This record gives sequence, structure tokens and C-alpha cells, in this order.
Amino acid sequence: APEDVAGKVVLITGASSGIGEQIAYQYAKKGARLSLVARREASLHDVAAKAKDIGSPDILVVAGDVANPEDCKRFVQATVEHFGQLDHLVNNAGVASVCWFEEVPDVADFKQVLAVNFWGAVHPTHCALPHLKKSGGKIFVNSSAAAVLAMPRMSFYNASKAAVLNFFETLRIELLDEVGITIATPGWIESEMTKGKHLSKHGTVEVDQDMRDAQVGVLPVVRAERCAEAIVDAVCRGRRHLTVPLWYRALFLWR
Ligand code: NDP
Repeated sequence: APEDVAGKVVLITGASSGIGEQIAYQYAKKGARLSLVARREASLHDVAAKAKDIGSPDILVVAGDVANPEDCKRFVQATVEHFGQLDHLVNNAGVASVCWFEEVPDVADFKQVLAVNFWGAVHPTHCALPHLKKSGGKIFVNSSAAAVLAMPRMSFYNASKAAVLNFFETLRIELLDEVGITIATPGWIESEMTKGKHLSKHGTVEVDQDMRDAQVGVLPVVRAERCAEAIVDAVCRGRRHLTVPLWYRALFLWR
């Protein structure tokens, strides 16, 4: 049977939009207490208000940057101080970058992709681990189908998601399932990231319309809400992986 998460404490990074926001609502529906983390504090408060209406009994909002190790320490500590425990860590925050490698103006800009997608999952996990061991808790991480697909123009994003995938596979072996780990490799999900809004707002290279049209033309577009529902279900059932369907991967290999 899936874990009953009513009253349990769930920390979600990247909870201000997209999949992370929807993950918050799914946990709220199940009565979990929430700690919501992202940089846009006002959006987090909007999400918190909605999650409260849906059924979460206690919600903490902590503005923070997952690319900053000090922030990671701070938001994990604030969560444990407020609730007295931590049961699920949801590593969801991420950024995309889209550009031909040859045309990248400054490769250093792309270190930010690794800083958020890889280190931004590693640091919160390191800080949270003692608390998760104490509670017999769980870790979720949002990798991507990009971890195993060589999609042109997304070399940095693909590499960051491959790093996430193998890091957490390894951690699973080290932890001997003392703390359960669920890794998702979703496909194309409707969110700020795939609409390209997010990227332009934060100064990275924008997803261009051509690329979006090409992808959306061939691939099924899954709503963030549906993706989040599958994620929370997989975590509560202790599933190790949540992947895109096989035929979807086959499509890419064939192309
Ligand atoms: P969104 O852009 O809608 O959400 C990204 C979230 O991450 C936002 O809440 C954003 O909040 C947060 N975030 C970004 N940078 C930071 C940072 N430095 N510190 C803290 N929070 C940060 O996109 P998605 O919902 O699509 O993305 C969620 C995750 O799902 C990502 O890891 C993404 O790679 C992954 N994914 C997405 C797929 C898709 O097709 N959309 C497919 C496979 C995986 P804020 O700006 O307020 O900081």
C-alpha cells in the first residue's frame, strides 16, 4: 500500500511553478505538511495559499537559491526547526539551457545549469540526510529523459540530468535503501521551462519557437499536474524509477 503522508513533512525545491508547484498540491491533497523553496517568494506564497485550501495543515515558505550551498543549509535547517522532522525531500528545482555549443557566447554561463540541476540537488540531499535517516524518510529527484537522450542544443542540460541520474543511483546503493530514492526521467511536460518563459526571465539562452514546435509536434505533451500526480504516487509507493514510456525513448533513438 502507498505510504500515508498525512501530517508528514515534505520539503519541495522549485515549488514556485510547473511540476514542483503541482507536486505541492498533490501532497497537500494527502494532508502533508509542506516546506516550499524557490527564489520567487511571492509565487511561493501564492502556491502556499492554494495548498492550504487543498488540505495541507501547515506550510513554511523559505526563499532560497539551490545553487547556493549556504541557502541549502538554511532551508533544510529552517524546515526541521519549524516542523521538528523531515520525511520527504523533493529535489525538483531546475533550469534549462538551449543553444548550439559552437554558438554559446560564454561557456561559464552554463556552469549555472550544473550549479542548479546537479549541485542544487546534491547540497539539499547532504544537509537533509541525517534527518531523513532519523525519520526513515525518502528522497525524490527530478532527472529527465534528457539524461539518456542526446538532444542537440541541450548539451549542458542533458549532461546535468545524466549526472543527477547516476549520482542518485549510486547514492541508493550506498544507503542500502535505508532512505528510499525515487528518480523520475520525465519527457516533455507543460511548464514555464518548456514555454521558454523561465529561461528568458533568468537571463539564460531562450528556447526558440522552432525547437518548441518541432518537439511538441512529435511528442506527447503531458500536463504538469499529471506528471506530479505520477511522481507523488511513485514516491509514496517506494518506486525506484518513474520513466517515460519505452516507445517514447524508441522514437528518439530512431530519429
Ligand atoms: P519550471 O521552470 O516551471 O520550474 C522550475 C522551478 O525551479 C521553479 O520553481 C524555479 O523557481 C525553480 N528554480 C530554478 N532555479 C532555481 C534556483 N537556483 N534555486 C531555487 N529554485 C530554482 O519548470 P519545470 O516545472 O518543467 O521543471 C521542474 C523540474 O523538472 C526541473 O528539474 C526540470 O529539469 C525537470 N524536468 C522538466 C521537464 C519538462 O519537460 N518541463 C522534463 C523533465 C524534467 P524560481 O524561479 O522561483 O527560483
